[in-house]
Amino acid sequence: MKPPKSLVRRTGWPTSTSRPVVTPLQPSVVYASPDPDALDTQYEDGSGYTYAREGHPNAEVLAAKIDMLEGATGGNITGSGMSAIGAVFLGVLKAGDHVLGADQLYGRSLRLMTQDLPKLGIETSLADPTDAAAIAAAIRPNTKMILVEVVSNPTIRVADMDGIAALAKDRGILLAVDNTFTTPRSYRPFDHGADIVIHSVTKLLSGHSDATLGYVAARDPALRTAINDANVTWGLTPSPFDCWLAERGLHSFDLRFDRAQQNATALADALVEMPGVARVIYPTRRDHPDHNRAMGLLDGQGGHMLSFELTGGRAAANALTRAAPDIAFAPTLGDIGTTLSHPASSSHRGLTPEGRAALGISEGFFRVSVGVEDIDMLVSELDHAICQAQNAS
Ligand SMILES: *Cc1c(COP(=O)(O)O)cnc(C)c1O
Repeated sequence: MKPPKSLVRRTGWPTSTSRPVVTPLQPSVVYASPDPDALDTQYEDGSGYTYAREGHPNAEVLAAKIDMLEGATGGNITGSGMSAIGAVFLGVLKAGDHVLGADQLYGRSLRLMTQDLPKLGIETSLADPTDAAAIAAAIRPNTKMILVEVVSNPTIRVADMDGIAALAKDRGILLAVDNTFTTPRSYRPFDHGADIVIHSVTKLLSGHSDATLGYVAARDPALRTAINDANVTWGLTPSPFDCWLAERGLHSFDLRFDRAQQNATALADALVEMPGVARVIYPTRRDHPDHNRAMGLLDGQGGHMLSFELTGGRAAANALTRAAPDIAFAPTLGDIGTTLSHPASSSHRGLTPEGRAALGISEGFFRVSVGVEDIDMLVSELDHAICQAQNAS
């Protein structure tokens, strides 16, 4: 037989009585159906994949796993944490609605609230989530949704979730919770009255800073459909490879969480003792302003995030990051390794110094996402860097 000139044939997959133990990566954008009747049926009952933006196996496998962690059904994977929030807003809100946000949301979420939603005719305002009375006072007749993060970035304050959930229920307002910082190991929003749960899967769930993804789930099936439609229509959907990587990361999520939390607890206690450290903010420490709430709401799980304040201003801050080159100075969190962020030069650079001061964010303020390193090494690296910082200021 003559060899074919071209190898473009839609060949089958070898059959095997055994199956792979690793989730296969399925990059196919399109799926071929047997005939138009079968395609009709697929569209009617969702019995098969058609086009990757509408859904693909790697997203479905990942969503099902995060659903298990959150006690959710029918969660959706999106291309980033921001697109998960975008899918919620685009799917659920319309012009004339009002969204009430916590005043210390993730930087881009704040921007979405203050600059982008108003362009779509959606009203927004912000209030202090540690005080349910402040949230109550900010509710308007057209308030459709409240968006909060359980633990605030970067000041690590704990929101009055029970108070806010009771209020939302009483007033018939949807409660959307961005659970990225807390993760389902510290807090499961659906167990506490949330209607919508959002994650940046990019962070601790995936855990290796190699995939940018989001997750969103809703309690009400109609909301779920609306959010899924927004995800697919606005093209916020994820790549199979990112989903595949994230699923691999997710397998070790609980182990990484435990170790990172253990390290964060120890690091917080060590930092308090270091000269040049003015304060340390970690939810389960007795000196935390929301200590009692953290012990109850988070079940004593302080998590992997802490912040601390260095004396000596910007000069000390510069010296600290330079003296700890093995701790990435990078504006992310949830990585397997410890990362440091400096809000005054990154997430909060847009605020005036007075605005930052009102939040307690000085030039010496650092947020630490604690990783799973050898804790003795981590403490001695930071101790060394903080000494250098003191000499520099
Ligand atoms: C990082 C983050 C986001 C945005 O997620 P991306 O995956 O970067 O788009 C949203 N909320 C919180 C709390 C985050 O930390």
